[in-house]
Order: sequence, then C-alpha cells, then structure tokens
Amino acid sequence: MSDVPFPVLVAAVFLFTSLTMVHLAMRHQDAQLALPERDAYLAAHELQSVTCAHCQSTEMREFGFNDADDDRRIVTCASCRKALFRYTRGAAPHA
Ligand SMILES: [Zn+2]
Repeated sequence: MSDVPFPVLVAAVFLFTSLTMVHLAMRHQDAQLALPERDAYLAAHELQSVTCAHCQSTEMREFGFNDADDDRRIVTCASCRKALFRYTRGAAPHA
C-alpha cells in the first residue's frame, strides 16, 4: 500500500467513487424507464383509479424524469415510496 503514491491513491478512489455513482444513477434511470405506463399499471393491478398496489394508499408523488419540468413523469406512492408508473404530461387524459 505504501508503494502507491498518495495523490494516485486519491485519484483512484475519486475515479471509482465517480464511476460507482454514475452506474447507480443509470441503474435508477433504467428502473424508472422500465415502469409501466399509467393505463398498463391500472390494468395490471385491476384498479379503477390510481391507487398504490402495494399499500392501497391514494396519495401519490410525482416528479420529472430528468428534472422538475420534464414532461416524462414518474409517479411514486407517497406512503410506501414505491415507484408505481410513468406517464407523459400532456399525452395522458388525466395529466
Ligand atoms: Zn404504497
């Protein structure tokens, strides 16, 4: 360990930490893109209205895919925080 110069060690740790963060962020985005569309979610869980299929809560939180103004919306349960579905603002009938 003492053979590695300290600045090289710091740079290596920084590089691997950065790569890990990018990897985790991309995995998180892929999981959000894999969410069903709103209608598919309702049909899959045989729901008449937007309800969490995990805890039956009707309180939802939504946010943009890339930023707050993104029209691609991700909807999560406000109670159990599970990601439920996605929709495109302006394209969905109840948007
Ligand atoms: Zn829930």
